[in-house]
Parts: sequence; C-alpha cells; structure tokens
Amino acid sequence: MSFSYIENKEFDYLFRYIIVGDINVGKSCIMLQFSSNQFREEHELTIGVEFAIKFLEIKNKNIKIQVWDTAGEEAFQSITKSYYRNAIGALLVYDITKKSSFEHLQKWLDSVKENSSKNIKIILIGNKIDLEDKREVTFQEGEEFAKKNDLFFLETSAKNFININESFNKLTEEIYQNIEVLEDEEKSKNSIKIDDIHSIVNQNKSCRC
Ligand code: GDP
Ligand code: MG
Repeated sequence: MSFSYIENKEFDYLFRYIIVGDINVGKSCIMLQFSSNQFREEHELTIGVEFAIKFLEIKNKNIKIQVWDTAGEEAFQSITKSYYRNAIGALLVYDITKKSSFEHLQKWLDSVKENSSKNIKIILIGNKIDLEDKREVTFQEGEEFAKKNDLFFLETSAKNFININESFNKLTEEIYQNIEVLEDEEKSKNSIKIDDIHSIVNQNKSCRC
C-alpha cells in the first residue's frame, strides 16, 4: 500500500496511537523522530508535549495520526485507563541492549489488551539497534515473542532514524485495512456493530491545531 506524509490539516480519520514499554527504551525519541525528525541524547528527555501529530494520505483519504506518550508514567500499574481506551494502535517498545525491558513485555501487552479496544493493532519494536555491540536480545527472540502474540515486529534506531517511519507505516496500514473491512461489512449487512471502531476513529473532522 502506498501512502505519503502530507501537510494538509483536513482529515477523514483520526488514529490515536499509544507508545508503551519500560522507561528509557526510547519511546519519546521514537515519537520525536517520527513527528519532527530529531534525536536527543539527554537521558531524562522532556519533550514537553504529550502527543505528536502527523498527517498522511492513503488511497485519497487523509489520516491524522496522534501518538500519545506515557509522559513519565511508565510503571504500567499507574497508567490511567483513559490512556488506553481511545487508542486504535499501540507501539510496544523494548531496548535490545536491556534484557529486562524485553522481559517486561508480557506485562505491557497484558496491560494494553486489558484496557483497550479489542480492535487495537499492536507493533512490537526492538529499539537501539545502533548499539549492536551491547545487544542483549537477539532479533530471533523479538521475532518469536511477536509471532507468539500475533504482533508485527521491527527493530529500530531512533538515533539513526532506522525503521521509524516504517513502524508507523506498518501499523497504520494494518489499521486502515481493518477499517475498510469493517466498513464494507457494515455496508453489506447494514447493521453490524462497530461502535467501538467509530468511537475511536473520528471521521470527517477538521483539525483545530
Ligand atoms: P523513554 O523513557 O522510553 O521515553 O526513553 P527516551 O526516548 O527518553 O530515551 C532514553 C535514552 O535512550 C535517551 O538518552 C536517548 O537519547 C536514548 N535513546 C533513545 N533511542 C535510542 C536509540 O535508538 N539509540 C541510542 N543509542 N540511544 C537511544
Ligand atoms: Mg519518555
């Protein structure tokens, strides 16, 4: 599926994504690279915004992507349910140089699944592949976890801008395809319940930012 990022502020769909995983895995950096092609070295990164926005076009439809950061609430117990509730996509991130961040994935995944829509699509991201010499989690381990849990999987470097857009593209593509299927079903059956999709995908709105 081909699509491109655009400047247009009018949109047909709003997709809200959340980004979860242990502290320091690079969630804020991934967001920053995605939204404004920047990288920051500081350890305690304070971007100062809770979400990043980007617009893209797929098949003549404009999509507004809003990525919500955990803003320092990385203890999964403390993340509020509203953070998950409106999301249609999730980026589940670990650090390939930190085994413990990989070991905590199941807890993060359970937390996402318990608290969000059943239609949520999730991509697993192994970040910091520029630090190959410090790698503690193999590509195969990541791939295996993803397969077992039916997730998409990519390794990234927020520092070197590797696979950042690709991760968001993959997630968006899957969500968009699912929406097309649900909308088609709705048309053919005339009464299918897709309330939760409609409540998280706001159609025909224009941007106020
Ligand atoms: P968060 O707590 O998950 O939001 O993590 P941050 O985005 O704040 O990043 C934590 C630290 O890891 C910062 O010092 C970043 O500069 C660094 N970092 C993030 N992504 C990468 C990466 O891809 N490669 C390297 N080498 N460092 C990274
Ligand atoms: Mg952060």
